[in-house]
Amino acid sequence: METEHKDCSYCAEGELLAQFGIKICELPMSKLILFKEQSHPGRVIVACKKHVDDITELTQEERAQYIEDINRTAVCIHKAFRPDKINFGAYGDTMHHLHVHVVPKYKDEYEWGGVFAMNPHRTEPSEEELQKVIDTIKANL
Ligand SMILES: [Zn+2]
Repeated sequence: METEHKDCSYCAEGELLAQFGIKICELPMSKLILFKEQSHPGRVIVACKKHVDDITELTQEERAQYIEDINRTAVCIHKAFRPDKINFGAYGDTMHHLHVHVVPKYKDEYEWGGVFAMNPHRTEPSEEELQKVIDTIKANL
């Protein structure tokens, strides 16, 4: 199901994915990806393993598992980073592969009370710092 979408960051991974993310691990119905831009510490993407445009294109079982993966991710982010709120964003206007941004928000900090930017290019930690975030996430999954 994945080889036919060579231009899709989530299917192809590699260089395309590396432009904005690092794959942390796979969950039953998704790929968990660290968003390199970390203005919101702990921000990740839960990308569906299946190349579909929208959640409506999944079977009921796939959808239930995908939602379960998103929930597991959110529970992990709550434990690992103690945000005051998690925002969930599914846009995909230009990226036709179902994925949800899981964005921890912290009271009185960047974008609190507002809509998170798609990519503010504001906080881009080193590879070493990103690896620490990945390790923290993995320890709490
Ligand atoms: Zn894809």
